[in-house]
Amino acid sequence: MKKTIPISEELIAPCGMNCAICSRYLSYVNNLKRSQCIGCRPRNKRCSYLFKKCTGVNNTLKGNAAFCFECNQYPCKQINRMDDRYRINYKMSVKDNLEYINKMGIGKFIKEQYRKYCCSKCGGLISIHNGKCFKCDAITRLVEKYNRKY
Ligand SMILES: [Zn+2]
Repeated sequence: MKKTIPISEELIAPCGMNCAICSRYLSYVNNLKRSQCIGCRPRNKRCSYLFKKCTGVNNTLKGNAAFCFECNQYPCKQINRMDDRYRINYKMSVKDNLEYINKMGIGKFIKEQYRKYCCSKCGGLISIHNGKCFKCDAITRLVEKYNRKY
């Protein structure tokens, strides 16, 4: 039987963030009494990390472009800042994610994400924010996973 990957395309945000591994999304799908979020695209709001400052002509965050790399202002100051924050704190690069999506396609990216962030104990998803599996509570130490080989 083919294993179902619990990451849908709409969970990949315009900035390259995989909402499926965000603590707030995992709290939502696992029905935890914590701050919850249904994901950036499903929420259909401008991202808090990009500080409502998306001024790209393609208006990525208004939905006219699927991903930030399609914007004429990419990489902008805001996405550079977010990329720094995630590389430093969470060992993940949204710009590298975007490059992978651009080169390999969204389907391959989702499979890669599941390989990287599935819990080795139960197959649930690990939070990028604390390395915790929200299904079985196992902790995975997230190492620098943004050095990809194509
Ligand atoms: Zn687990």
